[in-house]
Amino acid sequence: MKPTPASDPAMSDSIFDRIIRREIPADIVYEDEHLIAFKDISPQAPVHVLFVPKQGYATLNDVPEDDALVVGRLAMAAAKYAKAQGFAENGYRVLMNVNRDGGQTVFHIHLHLLAGRALYAHFG
Ligand code: AMP
Repeated sequence: MKPTPASDPAMSDSIFDRIIRREIPADIVYEDEHLIAFKDISPQAPVHVLFVPKQGYATLNDVPEDDALVVGRLAMAAAKYAKAQGFAENGYRVLMNVNRDGGQTVFHIHLHLLAGRALYAHFG
């Protein structure tokens, strides 16, 4: 049986859990049994959506190999969203920040989807 957020320090009870539980509002663009996607509150591009698993590991480091689908589903959902919104061909960026040097501020894994402007050469 998988651990619950309350019983495992690698699992989060974060602001994103509160969005999933509808305790705080968010501009939700997609949801299924595994994940939720909502607009970033501080967008860094014309399109900036966060794909967040309901199984909330704190960081990518905490995802066990036998649960790799948790991460894979985020990427697949992002690509599906890009296609549905019509910017898949022009292109987009997906990324995960991990811990301090990666710039992670919310410790519940999430995939950023950025699009709507040229993103090449921006890695700062
Ligand atoms: P990271 O720095 O990779 O951990 O990304 C966290 C992201 O969550 C940042 O881009 C924030 O702007 C975003 N964020 C924080 N709180 C909220 C919120 N309540 N609703 C939507 N996005 C949020």
